[in-house]
Amino acid sequence: MDLYEYQARELFRSHGVPVLRGGTATTPDQAEAEAASLLQAGAGLLVVKAQVKTGGRGKAGGVKLARSAAEARQHAEAILGMDIKGHTVRTVLISEGADIAEEYYVSILLDRAERQYLAMCSREGGVDIETLAKERPEALARIGVDPLEGLTPQVAQRIVQAAGFEPGATADAVAAVIEQLWGVFTDEDATLVEVNPLVLAEDGRILALDGKVTLDDNARFRHPEHEALVDAEADDPLEARAKAAGLNYVRLEGQVGVLGNGAGLVMSTLDVVAGAGQAHGGMRPANFLDLGGGSSAEVMATGLEVVASDPQVRTILVNVFGGITSCDTVAQGIVSAVESLGGLPKPVVVRLDGNNADLAHRILAEAAIEGVTVAQTMDGAADTVTAIAERIGSAEPKAERPTTDTPAQEA
Ligand code: GDP
Ligand code: MN
Repeated sequence: MDLYEYQARELFRSHGVPVLRGGTATTPDQAEAEAASLLQAGAGLLVVKAQVKTGGRGKAGGVKLARSAAEARQHAEAILGMDIKGHTVRTVLISEGADIAEEYYVSILLDRAERQYLAMCSREGGVDIETLAKERPEALARIGVDPLEGLTPQVAQRIVQAAGFEPGATADAVAAVIEQLWGVFTDEDATLVEVNPLVLAEDGRILALDGKVTLDDNARFRHPEHEALVDAEADDPLEARAKAAGLNYVRLEGQVGVLGNGAGLVMSTLDVVAGAGQAHGGMRPANFLDLGGGSSAEVMATGLEVVASDPQVRTILVNVFGGITSCDTVAQGIVSAVESLGGLPKPVVVRLDGNNADLAHRILAEAAIEGVTVAQTMDGAADTVTAIAERIGSAEPKAERPTTDTPAQEA
């Protein structure tokens, strides 16, 4: 789960990472009141910041400096409701601002490929770090952190030295912040903690002016307190619904909905659909959905409904290997699901193999559901489902997906 900047800042504060005071607002009135109270408390400069889970807010006009409550209100009015890379701004952070002398970059992340952690640090922060990493890689220090050793004071020193900080008070202060960020990273079970910019203020303080934190969802059970950080509104509504129903659903970019049982089978189904789609207009899988072990009628109905309600989905492939949950149970589930849904919203290709597959095929043949095609093999099913998707596509005007912050990536 990605956090908003204001949530990241709260975690920073509780682990001793230096941050400035601030509060959130969802209306211009609240923003003005928050600004007034910060000014009252002695703030000279204020920053109004869009709270969206994407970077580049500054460039998009979502970060504005203010010197008065009235000015903060004006900025809040302009920023609330703004669209930043497909994210609507519903909340702004009104924060005390800093007079910046220098901008740095610091991050700690999980490095899956190296099976360890990675700390990165640069004296040239405040910029798009991916551009820096590409164009001037020597300006971005990358130091691996052994998970067993941890990010010790010695490692923190090594990081700031590698980043080119001269030995001295600033280097020590940055190293201290890196150690505190390590505390956030480990205590909160994060997979990413990033501060860009970490600044040296004119008054000599080191301050985290921005914060990006990704928490490891697999460790959620250890952190009941993280429940409060969940923003149901910002979640993909389809993913939220699937999650509520206990289904493992991940939305992708393609046109062919996929349901299967078992993560391994569903993943190979995605590959096979993408492969077959190459001969059919480049059709690709639209989602990952694992029905789990007990593919009951109810689970099947919810799964079909979730997958079909993605406007990008043209056709659906149900690929189930019957084991303990036998194929006839799954076939029965499909029949009842279609009944409870009052028909099929989109064409479905079904491939059932394994325990009681013959019986399952008889059940589907007898039910003769309109829009259901039964395929005998996984490759055949993928070929049929992508072919139908392609035909539907050429008959319909092309629907564009809403943009997300991540550029379309190969699944
Ligand atoms: P991002 O664009 O989404 O990464 O948002 P940031 O929080 O990093 O803000 C963007 C830029 O706004 C920073 O790189 C700073 O240059 C500027 N900025 C943010 N906070 C302050 C502040 O307190 N004082 C000043 N002078 N500039 C700030
Ligand atoms: Mn930033």
